[in-house]
Amino acid sequence: MTVYNFNAGPAILPPTVLSQAQEELRDFAGTGISVMETSHRSKEFEAINNEVEARFKALLGIESGYRVLLLQGGASTQFAMIPLNFLAADAVADYIVTGVWAEKARDEAQKIGKVHIAADTAADKHNRIPTQAELQFSENPAYVHLTTNNTIYGTQWQTIPETNGVPIVADMSSDIFSRPFDASKFGLVYAGAQKNLGPSGVTVVLIREDWLDKGAKNVPTMLRYSTHAKNNSLYNTPPTFGVYMLNLVLGWIQEQGGLAGMAEYNTRKANIVYNTIDNSGGFYRGHAVADSRSQMNVTFNLPNQELEKQFLAETKAQGMLGLPGHRSVGGVRASIYNAMSIEGVEALASFMAHFAAKHG
Ligand code: PMP
Repeated sequence: MTVYNFNAGPAILPPTVLSQAQEELRDFAGTGISVMETSHRSKEFEAINNEVEARFKALLGIESGYRVLLLQGGASTQFAMIPLNFLAADAVADYIVTGVWAEKARDEAQKIGKVHIAADTAADKHNRIPTQAELQFSENPAYVHLTTNNTIYGTQWQTIPETNGVPIVADMSSDIFSRPFDASKFGLVYAGAQKNLGPSGVTVVLIREDWLDKGAKNVPTMLRYSTHAKNNSLYNTPPTFGVYMLNLVLGWIQEQGGLAGMAEYNTRKANIVYNTIDNSGGFYRGHAVADSRSQMNVTFNLPNQELEKQFLAETKAQGMLGLPGHRSVGGVRASIYNAMSIEGVEALASFMAHFAAKHG
């Protein structure tokens, strides 16, 4: 049976990357040992570490002005680390609240400093992205925080909003490198690797170089971005295997035509599933309103919970894994990250059409 992995994260990885990792597992770069057994100070690991930053920048088309840091503690640690470093006592940070992860980022910032809510879609069960006109920024915010893709609700910013020159801090955990983005709008971008970039355990941070000096000085060493920048992300022992996997995934993205290639592929895949929802005569109801739909997480409901249970049981029996919606919203969520194949979404769409015809 072919298995299709629709898990939200940790999630599907490119099969060729897994094969390469398997081949190299017992003997990395001719060393006779595994990359997991190699010192993070070895020249072999340092080469990987440097290649990650180089590939990351190459994919974004930037040469200078930014650093790529490989940290630990997940995106959740970034929720605190960002305001600890960049939300001074006399400043305000603006937060756009579009889901549970954005709420968590806001909550952490509120523990540390003054927060202004520029928009909040909670009243609409986070089924949409706010319009530009809805965004009410404060006078002179230190930064504007947003979540580019809301993993749980299946909504995604279609374009990055205008902030009148105020640097954006973005949680891109669930859509990083699924499409191109213009780095110059961002002071800092962060993502847990476990959806589009690799296994869990590595958190990738893209940070503007002039922000490294701006960070608060009274912050503990490990929680300062400048510590990691100065030490090339080798201040302490990094999650070496995760960094190695991240490097292979970045190489794979380059082979797919870079971010533009990924975007085209992801649009094709998402359209297949959304068309199936839209052509089901109301049998499937998408959670996200049409103009806020995510290309990464497709969320929908069936006419009742009985049918949802049956749908999830039958898809699982057919090898389609990870489809139950997040525990907070229920229903179905198909996570179709970069590494998901067209065949995978076609298998799902075909099952959906048959199921609707039978039970609709
Ligand atoms: N932000 C987003 C958008 C997420 O999807 C997740 C995890 N699902 C997180 C943050 C939390 O990430 P982590 O578990 O790496 O702390």
